[in-house]
Amino acid sequence: MTTTRRSLREFSYYGTGGTCDELVIPKSREELAAAMKRITRDGIRFFVLGGGTNSLVLDEHYPGAVILLSEFVDTQVLSSKIKAGSGVSNTQLAELAYSHSLSGIEWMNKLPGQLGGTVRMNARCYGGEMSQVVSEVEVVTKEGDIKSYRAQDGIFRGYKDTVFMSNGDIITSATVQLTQGEQDNIRKKMDFCAQDRESKGQFSAPSCGCVFKNNYKVGIPSGRLLEQAGVKGLKHGGAEVSGYHANFVFNYGATSREIIELTLEMREKVYRSSGVWLEFEMEILGDLPADLALKLAKAP
Ligand SMILES: Cc1cc2nc3c(=O)[nH]c(=O)nc-3n(C[C@H](O)[C@H](O)[C@H](O)COP(=O)(O)OP(=O)(O)OC[C@H]3O[C@@H](n4cnc5c(N)ncnc54)[C@H](O)[C@@H]3O)c2cc1C
Repeated sequence: MTTTRRSLREFSYYGTGGTCDELVIPKSREELAAAMKRITRDGIRFFVLGGGTNSLVLDEHYPGAVILLSEFVDTQVLSSKIKAGSGVSNTQLAELAYSHSLSGIEWMNKLPGQLGGTVRMNARCYGGEMSQVVSEVEVVTKEGDIKSYRAQDGIFRGYKDTVFMSNGDIITSATVQLTQGEQDNIRKKMDFCAQDRESKGQFSAPSCGCVFKNNYKVGIPSGRLLEQAGVKGLKHGGAEVSGYHANFVFNYGATSREIIELTLEMREKVYRSSGVWLEFEMEILGDLPADLALKLAKAP
C-alpha cells in the first residue's frame, strides 16, 4: 500500500507535480487508520489527494506522504440514500443515483473530482451544494481513529467551508440523502450541467476550476471582478486565463510556478481595479519556494 518517490503528476488533474517521499494507497479504513497512526507518531507530513481537481501540486519534491483514496470505491444504495466511498467520482455518483431514479445530485454530473474532496470543499454548482444532500460522513482522524459525523453535527460551516478544512480528518465515505424522481427529468438536469460546462470550454485544458472564492460581502462574483480587471486571456509561460471565464487558469504546459505567478498577478489586478483582495480557493500541495510563499501570504 506504500510506495516511495513516486511522481505525483499522474494524479494531478492540473498536470503538474514533482515527487513525494511516499505514496499511501490504503485498501480499507483499517489500513488507513494504521498508516495514520504511523504518520502521526513519526511526525510525517501528509496531504490527501482526491481527484486533484481543486489542487495545484507543486513541481518541487514534497517531503511527506501523499494519501490517495482511489481504492475507496464501494457504493451501497439504501432506499433513498446512497453511501459511497470517498474515491467515487462525482459523475459516477450522479449516474448511480440516476440508475435508481434518485434525484438531488444531478448537479454533480461532470463536476470534476471525487466524493471525499467534494465533501471537504462543500462544493456547489447549478443550485446544489454538498451541505444540502450529505447526511453522514465517515472519517479516519489524523491520529488514526475511525469516526463518523452526522450532518447536524455542524460539519458544513457555510460557503466552501467545512470542519474537515481545519481538523485534518480524512473522509473515507459519505452518505447522500436523495428523493425519488422521474428518470427523464433527472437525465435532463444532468445533461444540462454537462452541456453547460462543455459550452463554456471548461474542459479545453487542465485547470482547477475557479482559482478564487467568491466574496459574498462584496456581492459581485470573483469571475466578474477578474473580467473587469481585464485578465481574460492573460498569459504567463504555459499558463493562461480562460477567454470565457476569468476565474479559470488553464495549463498549456506550464510549471506550477508559472500558474501561481499568473494567479498572483490576477489578484493584484483585481485589487488595483476594484479594491477587493481575492481569497484563493485552489489548494496547494507542497512547500512554496520562499519568494512565492511571501507573495502568496501578502495582505492588501
Ligand atoms: C473544470 C472544473 C470545473 C469545476 N467546477 C466547480 C464548480 O462548479 N463548483 C465547485 O465547487 N468546484 C468546482 N471545481 C473544483 C473541484 O471540482 C471541486 O472542488 C471538487 O469537489 C474537488 O474534488 P477533488 O477530489 O478533485 O479534490 P482535490 O483537489 O483532490 O482536493 C481538494 C482538497 O480536499 C482535500 N481532500 C481530498 N480528498 C479528501 C478526503 N477524502 N478527505 C479529506 N480531505 C480530502 C485535499 O487535501 C484538498 O485540500 C471545478 C474544477 C474543475 C477542474
